[in-house]
Amino acid sequence: LIFSPMTPQTKHIMEYVWIDAAGGMRSKTRVENNLDQFSYDWVLSDHERWEWSFDGSSTGQATGTDSDVLLRPVAVYPNPFYNRPPRGGGAFDAHLVMCDTYNKDGTPHATNARVTCAQTEATCLTDEPLFGIEQEYILFDRAKELPYQWASPGDPGCGGQGPYYCGVGGDRCFGRKIVDQHLLACLHAGIEIGGTNAEVMASQWEFQIGPLPATQVSDQLWMARYILQRITEEHGCCATFHPKPLRTWNGSGGHTNFSTVAMRRGSNPEANEANEAMTAIKSACARLEANHAEHMAVYGKDNVERMTGLHETSSMHACTWGVSDRGRSIRIPRHVANRGHGYLEDRRPAANLDPYLVTERIMRTCCCLDDDYN
Ligand code: ADP
Ligand code: MN
Ligand code: MN
Ligand code: MN
Repeated sequence: LIFSPMTPQTKHIMEYVWIDAAGGMRSKTRVENNLDQFSYDWVLSDHERWEWSFDGSSTGQATGTDSDVLLRPVAVYPNPFYNRPPRGGGAFDAHLVMCDTYNKDGTPHATNARVTCAQTEATCLTDEPLFGIEQEYILFDRAKELPYQWASPGDPGCGGQGPYYCGVGGDRCFGRKIVDQHLLACLHAGIEIGGTNAEVMASQWEFQIGPLPATQVSDQLWMARYILQRITEEHGCCATFHPKPLRTWNGSGGHTNFSTVAMRRGSNPEANEANEAMTAIKSACARLEANHAEHMAVYGKDNVERMTGLHETSSMHACTWGVSDRGRSIRIPRHVANRGHGYLEDRRPAANLDPYLVTERIMRTCCCLDDDYN
């Protein structure tokens, strides 16, 4: 299905993807001719050659009189949506190009949170921070104005909110074809997707990206969202990342799992490493608690509608943490507590999180600091 980016091809289909002012995705495609030296390294390093621009006045990112916004490639993936050309046709390969956005004076655009994320990441390399993000979303049918394949606005009929999480069967599980197609497309694109599951609301699903360093997990999460939306086009629905589309149903989160090398290390019992790892995990929890307001400010718009304290969320107004408790803001998974090392789960981010902002804030709170919380 996919071409090696290193094989010389006659044409290169470059699908440029970026984030718009509303936190949605945009893309446009250009075809490049016969570049023998084509490589992903070249696309990412030769800014002059590979920079592009778009009309920012049409995406809420500029005014009409001064409308050009620049696109700079930050990550390239094989494009899973193009098949091998038919025999006799011209040779081509196809790529998805994740970009960040710049003003024409070269400063990062106001909607570009990647630059600061990369800067913060560079200051705490010795902590080796890793992130795994759980992306929940709900499939919606635009024509019916209902969640995908719901017959009526009420309960789809299986009783309460119990039957749908990890559910199976045509009476309760809606959209698996989309979910499986998305999983496969992400794998073809080389994205580190870790799994999928049906969620608590019927037509609500989740996938996970990571664990990876901050900028990489964020690039890949954005591209995985783009791939998902592109697939929904084929099924007459769309995915929404709004934190609480239906007031009485489970909302959608973007649980952000986080570790540093000190939290992961724990295999040597003689050095008492597990003890030190648990201390590092708990001290990160304490820091997150102490900076609750600063974190909530970048954890997603309309998150207040989701964080009611019900439906496996914590209250918006306080940060709590504990082992294995999905009602807390931060959960130390049971298996992590048992082993004595691993990671923590910050359950506060909403599904519409900008992962550049969230991972940046977590690194700033939990990394490159002298340890004074215990
Ligand atoms: P749950 O639904 O129980 O909260 P999931 O299996 O959906 O858990 O997600 C677990 C997440 O933890 C995955 O995204 C995975 O990438 C992430 N993860 C696993 N190990 C680490 C680690 N050491 N550091 C950061 N994230 C991790
Ligand atoms: Mn999960
Ligand atoms: Mn979930
Ligand atoms: Mn989770």
